[in-house]
Amino acid sequence: MDNCIFCKIAAGDIPADKVYEDGDVVAFRDLNPQAPTHILVIPRKHIATLNDLRVEDEVVLGRMYGAAREIAAQEGLADAGYRTVVNCNEAGGQAVFHIHLHLLGGRMMHWPPG
Ligand code: AMP
Repeated sequence: MDNCIFCKIAAGDIPADKVYEDGDVVAFRDLNPQAPTHILVIPRKHIATLNDLRVEDEVVLGRMYGAAREIAAQEGLADAGYRTVVNCNEAGGQAVFHIHLHLLGGRMMHWPPG
């Protein structure tokens, strides 16, 4: 999609510190990390928010979680634990309208989240 920064990262049109990619998903380090490890996992397909996910997109959502699991292991986070978050719309704290999964680790997470 035109003017979507995450579509441009997925296409390689703007740089990102990529840690994983395959035919369905791309993962890269967050520019403004909120934990020692903060990685964003996105689908190549432009889906604006979780509200816009269609039944046929549920496979790619599964691929995003599968990638997050592999990356967490690669980053040495699996045993200690980590957090995955998908923000939706304004009240959920979403700022970039291309669905993404935050993978956060390397410190203790707090609950409830802010
Ligand atoms: P959200 O608030 O859930 O929409 O999260 C958007 C995330 O994207 C934020 O954590 C930003 O720091 C991150 N972000 C925005 N632009 C970039 C970029 N060009 N490269 C890496 N991370 C980015």
